[in-house]
Amino acid sequence: MSSNTLDRFLTENLEDLKGKGLYNEIDVVESANGPVIKIKGKELINLSSNNYLGLATDERLKEVAINAIKEYGVGAGAVRTINGTLDLHIKLEETLAKFKGTEAAIAYQSGFNCNMAAISAVMDKNDAILSDELNHASIIDGCRLSKAKIIRFNHSDMDDLRKKAKEAKESGQYNKIMVITDGVFSMDGDIANLPGIIEIAEEFDLITYVDDAHGSGVTGKGAGTVKQFGLAEKIDFQIGTLSKAIGVVGGYVAGRKNLIDWLKVRSRPFLFSTAVTPADAAAATKAVELLMSSTELNDRLWENGNYLKEGLKNLGFNIGNSETPITPCIIGEEKATQEFSKRLYEEGVYAKSIVFPTVPQGTGRVRNMPTAAHTKEMLDKAIFIYEKVGKEMGLI
Ligand code: PMP
Repeated sequence: MSSNTLDRFLTENLEDLKGKGLYNEIDVVESANGPVIKIKGKELINLSSNNYLGLATDERLKEVAINAIKEYGVGAGAVRTINGTLDLHIKLEETLAKFKGTEAAIAYQSGFNCNMAAISAVMDKNDAILSDELNHASIIDGCRLSKAKIIRFNHSDMDDLRKKAKEAKESGQYNKIMVITDGVFSMDGDIANLPGIIEIAEEFDLITYVDDAHGSGVTGKGAGTVKQFGLAEKIDFQIGTLSKAIGVVGGYVAGRKNLIDWLKVRSRPFLFSTAVTPADAAAATKAVELLMSSTELNDRLWENGNYLKEGLKNLGFNIGNSETPITPCIIGEEKATQEFSKRLYEEGVYAKSIVFPTVPQGTGRVRNMPTAAHTKEMLDKAIFIYEKVGKEMGLI
């Protein structure tokens, strides 16, 4: 028999969420997560995946993944520190270090896991973390897990960061102070002011931590935001995910050898959770090698991103201040945003609505993620549908 207390808790809270329209019904995709997806038998132009370079369905990655399965099987078999470290994992980590311009790298099972692992392995209750208010949920959870004092600074506001860094330093209360930011902010597509952050970090001896989940493979001609600013040697932690532009799954920290050595003995998901599968490790390595050898996919991503942005802007939509291919279409009011996304869906475009509390109240948006795999025809069709629905709803 199940617990009455649990049943009451679940029933009340699920009903509450549903009543407020906050219960997210999950769409089931019946195809590969490519530029066109199938949901309930219907084909839709997909503008919601993080598969920026189209690598999730790349034939070259599929081939190395299949070969890895044939040679190594489907699972790594153990945690990394027992005997789950395959030579494929070592190759992946060496390739990631090369990619990020660092001495070493360590791979985790996901980007989310990586932030939980890395922050709490270094920071503790005697420390403080200065965190951009728009940082990703996994950064927030990683900070909480560390038990360090969390000090939020206003989004990309260097004056606020300097003021709070100075206060924290001068209080003499903390052993270590870290500043932590996304490289690219996923809801607006803006890029962190890394030179500004480094200047403040140097002034107050802050540990620097950049999660470039949405930048790697995208900014800096694919090399990411840290390299775009030429700061690989100045950032202590370079975090990335293998699930977005890289097209597979996993996360990583790239940094100095002593940092990576420490994470290998102190970060709990590395010690206590089985490593990514042979197929994942091999495919991710191949993807990073492709990224380092050619900017072709990256060029196409930006071309498509700029094309979609221009198209939506010319129609009169508010596309915000994105500096990357992420293209928000800001509608404002929450219900209208959800209705807009639903109408786009009915007409053949999959573009998810994002509303409060994920973004501030009154700034609801439909977020578009064009990829290198979209054709001009697909983007033209999407723009045509945006125009039709936008006019019908009186938004443009
Ligand atoms: N960090 C940031 C900044 C992200 O945007 C995301 C993805 N939503 C993650 C970490 C988590 O990455 P993953 O999906 O690999 O767990």
